Amino acid sequence: MRGIKADGTAITVMAVDDSPVSRKMIKKALEPEGFQVIAEAGNGKQAVELYASVKADVITMDVTMPVMDGLEAASAIKAVNPGQPIIMLSAMGDEDIINDARRRGINDICSKPFKPDEIIEKILRIL
Ligand SMILES: [Mg+2]
Repeated sequence: MRGIKADGTAITVMAVDDSPVSRKMIKKALEPEGFQVIAEAGNGKQAVELYASVKADVITMDVTMPVMDGLEAASAIKAVNPGQPIIMLSAMGDEDIINDARRRGINDICSKPFKPDEIIEKILRIL
């Protein structure tokens, strides 16, 4: 159960993705290991609004979303809390997007489609 902390509580996750199927896949990857997806948002704006009241140990952030994309949302969240761990999930291995994500302080990038182990290991590494 890699999603359980030393104190016995779950590592909490906010899953941000405009695709309900992708959000379901994130949950399917993490919850069997004890992680708890405590919040979900369907676009960057929703994520920023939700972040005012819900703090998760880690945020998984899609890039391409309507209303506000994941890069902008990550910047807004990092402006509020620079220490907030964020993992970008990107279908595009575009060098420009990766560099942009790094500049915005995004902690790691996981390419889609991801393997459960890949996202789990990246989360554990940045916490
Ligand atoms: Mg998307």
